[in-house]
Amino acid sequence: MSNDPRQRLDRYVDQYAARARTMVASEIRALFAVAARPEIVSLAGGMPYITALPLDAVGELAGQLVTDCGAVALQYGSGQGDPGLRESICEVMALEGIRAHPDEVVVTVGSQQALDLMTRIFIDPGDVVLAEAPSYVGALATFASYQASVVHVPMDDDGIIPEALEETIARLAAAGKRIKFLYSVPTFHNPAAVTLPAQRRARVLDICRRSDLLLIEDNPYGLLGFDGEPQRALRADSADGVVYLGSFSKTIASGLRVGWALAPHGIRDKLVLAAESAVLCTSSLAQLMVREYLATQPWQDQIKVFCELYAERRDAMLSALEASMPTGCRWTRPGGGFYVWLKLPDGLNSKVMLPRAISARVAYVPGTGFYADGSGSEYLRLSFCYPEPARIKEGVRRLAGVVEAEIELRDTFGSWPADTPA
Ligand code: PMP
Repeated sequence: MSNDPRQRLDRYVDQYAARARTMVASEIRALFAVAARPEIVSLAGGMPYITALPLDAVGELAGQLVTDCGAVALQYGSGQGDPGLRESICEVMALEGIRAHPDEVVVTVGSQQALDLMTRIFIDPGDVVLAEAPSYVGALATFASYQASVVHVPMDDDGIIPEALEETIARLAAAGKRIKFLYSVPTFHNPAAVTLPAQRRARVLDICRRSDLLLIEDNPYGLLGFDGEPQRALRADSADGVVYLGSFSKTIASGLRVGWALAPHGIRDKLVLAAESAVLCTSSLAQLMVREYLATQPWQDQIKVFCELYAERRDAMLSALEASMPTGCRWTRPGGGFYVWLKLPDGLNSKVMLPRAISARVAYVPGTGFYADGSGSEYLRLSFCYPEPARIKEGVRRLAGVVEAEIELRDTFGSWPADTPA
């Protein structure tokens, strides 16, 4: 037998389940190693700026928790999650107009696990999932790993287009396809940075209701708006047609890995069983830390601190884009969240351009990662959540230089075909 560990791994390739073939590294994952180098300004990953948390207070709280009730905090918990935390989660959701009972909440290992569990419960290979074009890369990876067939529904500057949703549902029904659910990030979308206005929310809910289509509302950024009150959640107006996914990753700390699903009772039961088979329970220590943090710390003020910080970074990015991007580029102006979605001038390909951007010491995520069919090469995602404003400006300046150079290349040699492999 070879001593090369890669060859030894390869020995089992033929024995992998069919679903393992659909598990491939995302664009973001492959980028992380390079983008983490200090000389590179990374506008790629969507890491919350945890440094802005009162870390000493959180540390004290964690220590106290272990000292005072370590026998519970360090023990297994229930599959559904800590009852006190589920009560607090209902109070958090009330900020978005949701009236829910703690019994309908399942605590999960981040909202990513809730997505995984929902997909596991609903998807047989080949079943159709509707998802916005573009869609959150981690959701697409989950759908792929259960061999779902993702059908994208177009968006515009106001999020998913209701007419396109209706058309897509009708087309799939006519083709005899089974749609299991619509996956949507209606507020401060990742990556498109758009938000569905109230009127469209009502229309989307109405279409789903008429088509008997379950909607997964994934809302990790809902409380990270830069102006005004939080948007009313879709779930606030449809208790039985929507499964709502929430997360403390962006409002407290992503490393705690605490999220949740709010689901009608039947689905809730399945979620608990699926969660138990996956992880037995979410970390008791992490859950109690969140529970105590919500009970004892000024968490709403802290969210304001995060929002002000991210708004300043958003402004830094928008003004740098305005100042330096060549004509022909377009980008969204987010009212919250972490991202700007940028469209390159005609004929440019963000995937082909990436190695040159890395050489120029700036990283972004090519748009192709956010489409199940690998389209989207004319787009890229920039995140403003992690670097300080001066770094953001420098990163955008570098990126603008790369785009200028690409335009020159295009004008000299012609465009890359959209499906050019990088
Ligand atoms: N949904 C969306 C839209 C996200 O952007 C993310 C994280 N980037 C997640 C879900 C997963 O978040 P977590 O598991 O940390 O709660």
